[in-house]
Amino acid sequence: IKKGSQTNLKDPVGVYCRVRPLGLPDQESCIEVINSTTVQLHTPEGFRFNRNGDYKETQYSFKQVFGTHTTQKELFDVVAHPLVDDLVHGKNGLLFTYGVTGSGKTHTMTGSPGDGGLLPRCLNMIFNSIGSFQAKRYVFKSNDRNSMDIQCEVDALLERQKREAMPIPKTPSSMPPHLAFAIVSYIELFSYFNDNLFFFSHRLPQSKMLREDKNHNMYVAGCTEVEVKSTEEAFEVFWRGQKKRRIANTHLNRESSRSHSVFNIKLVQAPLDADGDSVLQEKEQITISQLSLVDLAGSERTNRTKAEGSRLREAGNINQSLMTLRTCIEVLRENQLYGTNKMVPYRDSKLTHLFKNYFDGEGKVRMIVCVNPKAEDYEESLQVLRFAEVTQ
Ligand code: ADP
Ligand code: MG
Repeated sequence: IKKGSQTNLKDPVGVYCRVRPLGLPDQESCIEVINSTTVQLHTPEGFRFNRNGDYKETQYSFKQVFGTHTTQKELFDVVAHPLVDDLVHGKNGLLFTYGVTGSGKTHTMTGSPGDGGLLPRCLNMIFNSIGSFQAKRYVFKSNDRNSMDIQCEVDALLERQKREAMPIPKTPSSMPPHLAFAIVSYIELFSYFNDNLFFFSHRLPQSKMLREDKNHNMYVAGCTEVEVKSTEEAFEVFWRGQKKRRIANTHLNRESSRSHSVFNIKLVQAPLDADGDSVLQEKEQITISQLSLVDLAGSERTNRTKAEGSRLREAGNINQSLMTLRTCIEVLRENQLYGTNKMVPYRDSKLTHLFKNYFDGEGKVRMIVCVNPKAEDYEESLQVLRFAEVTQ
């Protein structure tokens, strides 16, 4: 079985910026979009406390900047469409939304029913690409799965195909004949109680182990993966996860902005023989690729939420995982630019450890830095926009 393969190593990391509209039209703004790659941060009156008056009026450059009028579709076309293309062609992709609480991360990733974000649009595109040649329904209920399990299931699928002479759906003429199926999973990453804790699928938080399989793929032990046949079914898995997250947060008296939510879409593809009516039996021909969509925890610093005691530690940890993420992207980018081979410190947090393969160069990493231009967010936006420096 082929793992999602390496993509163009010259372009593994890309950082974009999206500026949301002001909440109220008469609010003071501190961010100006200069052109399609640059924003300028203006220091609002109230923040010019430097006696010398030498506050910064800094410009920040990104791969692309999306202004307040950008539609969800425009954003999808530029940022996510290429990742879905990669996925369908057997390559991996990882996409983050990063920013302060209220900056538009969830709007960008999930959107609303009438104005879907990147996640439902990715699903639509995936099912439009593979829809006409999916195999019969197989629901995977394995409780502790990894790529070895998938390998076994693919074996079982091929066996069954042979035994039952399953009708094989027609392939669009532009693609070589093959069958494909999609498996999704939802993971919530918390940093409570001084240590990272995984949680999903149950009312109470459950500590989950991060493991590495024989093929050096990371996986979360006990994570439920579900085969889905449509955008609706996949979105259902996502919503169920979100609902449990809310219940657990209420239960623990936590804010949901303090956890990272991770939605994985795995695509398993097996070629068919030339006349398209039986599956090729060579396992090397089966490809598994993955696209991970991550709505990160709010990047605000501790003092903003006036955290105390265990809350303070929790906030500290959130910052730690976001900081590790930043360092990892920085090192990865540096290796890419200068051809160096510096160690990417992804083991320093579970968030980055989970995505180890991407930091080893197996797939594209894309980040959308979300900012709210309102003047009150000036200091936080300053921190967030500095992410641009990482990738210049
Ligand atoms: P975050 O997830 O970063 O905390 P949200 O995505 O929940 O922020 O956004 C906060 C509010 O701002 C929501 O009511 C959302 O609908 C609105 N919003 C964010 N970005 C945009 C945008 N680009 N256009 C219109 N409304 C937006
Ligand atoms: Mg959010």
